[in-house]
Formats: sequence, structure tokens, C-alpha cells
Amino acid sequence: MASTRPIRSTMMNVPLSLNHLLERAGHLFPSNEIVSRLPDKSLVRHTYGQFYGRTRQLAQALLDLGLQPGDRVATLSWNHHAHLECYFGIPAAGGVMHTLNLRLAAEEIAWIANDAQDRFLVVDDVLLPLLAQFQGLCNFEKIIVFPFSGAAVPIPFLDYEALLAQADGENFRYVAHEEDDAVSMCYTSGTTGKPKGVVYSHRSTLLHTLVGCMGDCWALRSSDVVLPVTPMFHANSWGMPYGAVMTGCKLVFPGPHLHPDDLLDLMRDEPPTLSLGVPTIWMGLIQTYEASLLTHPGRWKLPAGMRSLVGGAAVPEALIRAFDKHGIWILQGWGMTETSPLATVSYPKSEFKDASMDERYRRAAMAGVPVPLVDIRLRGEDGQDAPWDGQHVGEIQVHGPFITGSYHQVPVSEDKFSIDGWLRTGDVASMDTHGFVRITDRTKDLIKSGGEWISSVDLENALMGHPDVAEAAVIAIPDAKWSERPLACVVCKPGKTLDEAGLNTHLLAQGFAKWQLPERYEAITAVPRTSTGKFYKLKLREMFPA
Ligand code: ADP
Repeated sequence: MASTRPIRSTMMNVPLSLNHLLERAGHLFPSNEIVSRLPDKSLVRHTYGQFYGRTRQLAQALLDLGLQPGDRVATLSWNHHAHLECYFGIPAAGGVMHTLNLRLAAEEIAWIANDAQDRFLVVDDVLLPLLAQFQGLCNFEKIIVFPFSGAAVPIPFLDYEALLAQADGENFRYVAHEEDDAVSMCYTSGTTGKPKGVVYSHRSTLLHTLVGCMGDCWALRSSDVVLPVTPMFHANSWGMPYGAVMTGCKLVFPGPHLHPDDLLDLMRDEPPTLSLGVPTIWMGLIQTYEASLLTHPGRWKLPAGMRSLVGGAAVPEALIRAFDKHGIWILQGWGMTETSPLATVSYPKSEFKDASMDERYRRAAMAGVPVPLVDIRLRGEDGQDAPWDGQHVGEIQVHGPFITGSYHQVPVSEDKFSIDGWLRTGDVASMDTHGFVRITDRTKDLIKSGGEWISSVDLENALMGHPDVAEAAVIAIPDAKWSERPLACVVCKPGKTLDEAGLNTHLLAQGFAKWQLPERYEAITAVPRTSTGKFYKLKLREMFPA
């Protein structure tokens, strides 16, 4: 007779835990390498075996210093092996790693550290002058210094290496936790109001890591060599460090050296198979590389076959084409600190495997398809969901187990979360029948001209497709008749001058209507960058107020 009793799963109820990834790396990949570039540009090599031992020593050292479950430990650090140890060692001891953005103004860093109630701080010795600017504004109980330069760690700071040497990592026991307990936190940039804290859990981090490593996302394998240029304080380097430890792939950390020359040297010496960074990093890199082919041929060789995960801002199609010429495929991702951050990836879906290259480039220049576990809807101004027809636009709203449902110590408000609990991203996009998201703009960057919207992203991408243009950023300027009009700030390639008529002809040929053309052009020497290396439109608006 059929039972009417509901059947229960027979699966074990095991909480997801970062500690599992650490144990895995230590036991399965002990000889795989983690390479870091030090401030003096030398390379230091560790194995995952050493990483495992050192991370457990760090966790024990933090417990010996009195760390309690849930205590925040801030990091003020570049990308390197010791920062990776913090990624795992702090949660292993029950703490919450809080990465501070070292490119922010000192007072802003202090505000963020105080908002997060950071108890301890771990800092690179080369960043002590920055710490000196805000230490007096904070209440760090202990300050631990990574001694990279060889100089003695100043009293009363603690020497990271000395702490590890004294700690008994062998007998370290993981602090018990639930899968929803916090492991790390990052603050959103304060471009609109005060920065806000996003707190990630064991569970959200593990799920994001598994999704990120999928074939249609990073496709991370143990044989990969990963160069994370994205700072470890920018949405946890997009979650890549966790994926690397899970798969045991080789890591190559650039340390503080992010100049194109330095990155090209590193790529020549330790060729990566996967890299990640914001578009401006790769714009600078390709310009330097292509110029070197004329001036110093053979100095560098781009690692053909490398995949490059680029996101954080719209990726111009011209950039994708430029890298493909050298055998490097750019995989665009869209997301935010609030989304862990990977929410969509533009990968070649099977229905496009026979598509023309033009179509593949066009799709690669879109934000892409939602990753598993992330639901996306586009809310139109009328409060209805915009259809996925590639035409209608709406605000992207997202929902899922690695999307934040609130901000640290901030009451949930309707301008950030919908009534039914979806995150309102402030990004405007369309979606087509294939599920490809195309970002039109951030709500605040859209240009409203005579009642019609003009996408600054579309204009920028088209301008950057012109052979004379190195970089272009478009902002709205107030206009008595049309309310707003586009102003294009253009950085020309070396030896080229701003040719407004030529650029307008180029835009018209790209399909822009006459009324969408920039009202004005300004030649500038560089587009100002935000603390995470993106185009800083707020600064441009200050530079060109009207
Ligand atoms: P912030 O840029 O404010 O420092 P985040 O790094 O969290 O903070 O940035 C998230 C924002 O970056 C998104 O809301 C979106 O506007 C932009 N962004 C991220 N990826 C893309 C992309 N592929 N295309 C266009 N915009 C993007």
C-alpha cells in the first residue's frame, strides 16, 4: 500500500563551510603554487601545502589574541599570499574578514572601519603611511603588519610572521559555525550617499564559488594559472580566491604593481590562463602592448589562449576585438558588491556556436546571461516587468542565495529593496529572448534629452570603437531646451587630435540618430578613475558642470 507519509531526504545535513575548501587545498593540492609579487618586484613562491599550514597558524594566532566569534578583522592590503591566508584564516577562527579599500580617502576608510566595528587590523607594511592618516580616528585593538620590506615592524604593531611562527597551527581546531554565519564583508562605494556594508556568509560564499567555477562561467580547473588583477578589496576579487583554493589552481598575485608594464612583465614571466580586472586595466594594457610591438618588438608576448574575465563596468566591443586579435577571449560579467558579485556572464551559448564573429563580439559586449541561482527581472517605470524582447528596458532587480537582502546596520528601504524582497540594482537594461542582459546605464548616468533616454554606455562604446580614441566617457550636461544633453570626454590615442566631425560621422554610421550625438566634446588627457578603477563620472560632472 502506498504510504501517505511525506518522504524525507536521506541526505546528511552538513553546513556549507569555507573550512572544507581550506582542508581540501591542503590535502589535495599541497604542491600547487601561489606566487606573489612583493613591493620590491621580486616574486615569492608558496605551495598550497604551506598556505594550509600558515592559514591554520593565523587562525590559531587570532584566537590566542582573543578573537571572539563574529569579531571583524579588517585587512588593508594589496593582492598577495598573506591576504589569501586572511581570506580563510579569519573565518576559520570564527572572525569576519573585512577588506578595506586602500584607494579611498583616509577619513572614508576610517568611517567604514568604524561602521563595521573592526576590532583587529592586518596591514601591509608599505601601507603604514596610509594607516597613519586614519589610525587616530579608529579603535583597532591590535594591528598586525605583513613585513614585506624587510624592515622591522614598528612597536607597538605586531609582526604577522612572528605571530604565525609562535602559533600552534598543528593543533588548531576550527571554531564551530552555522552555514549562515558571516565570513567576510565589503562596503559598496559611496558614489550615492554613505558606503554600505554587505556581509557574506559561509553558505553564500560557497554557492557563489560553485557557480563561478562552472564551465560557462570561469571554467576554473586545477591546471589553470590565475592572475587576479581585481583587488582583493573589490568584492573579494570577485570571489576568485575562493574558487582558486577550491580547485587548487596556480595563483599569480600582482602585489602593488598594477601598471601595464608591470602586468605585462608578470604575464611574460608567469603566463596566466585566466585573468580578471575592470575594463580600464585592459584598455591601458592593450595600448601599452600594441605600442611596444612598434617600439620594443619581442619585449612582451600576450599569453594567447588566456581567458579574461572583465566586468565592473561596460566592456567596449572594441576592447573585446582588440584582445581577440592576440588570441585572448574576454568574458564579460555583470554584478555588484551586493551580488557576491557574479550575477550574469556573457558566454557563447550553444545556439551561437555557428554564429558569425560579428554576432559573437556583439554578444560578448553584453552583460550576458544570469548565472544559476540568480533570478533577474526588469522593472519598468510603470511597475511592470519589461518583456525579454531586447527592446523594453527596466531596472534590473535580482534575487538569490548570494544576493544581499539588506545592508549592515541599515534599515531596509524601498529605494534599495522591492516590497517582495528583490534587490534594486539601479542599473537599467534590456533582455532579449536568449536571456542576454544588455546594460543601458546606471539610472543616475542615463541622459534624458527632450523626454527620450540616451544611453551613455552605448555612446562610449561606439566612440571607443573609433581608431583614434583611447578612452571616452559620456555624461549629461544640463540644457535649457532639452533638459539634458550628452557631453563626450575623449582621450585620444598618442599623436591623434580630437576630430568632432569625424567622431559624429562615425557615430551616425554606427546607427545613432542625430539627436543622440554628443552636444559637445572635450579633449582630456585621462578619464578620472574611481577607487575600484572604473570611469569616475561624478568627477567628470564636477569638471564640466555645464
Ligand atoms: P561601485 O562601482 O559602486 O564601486 P560595484 O563594484 O559593486 O561598486 O559596482 C557595481 C556596478 O558596476 C553595477 O551596479 C553596474 O552599474 C556596474 N557594472 C558592473 N559590471 C558591469 C558590466 N558588465 N556592464 C556595465 N556595468 C557594470
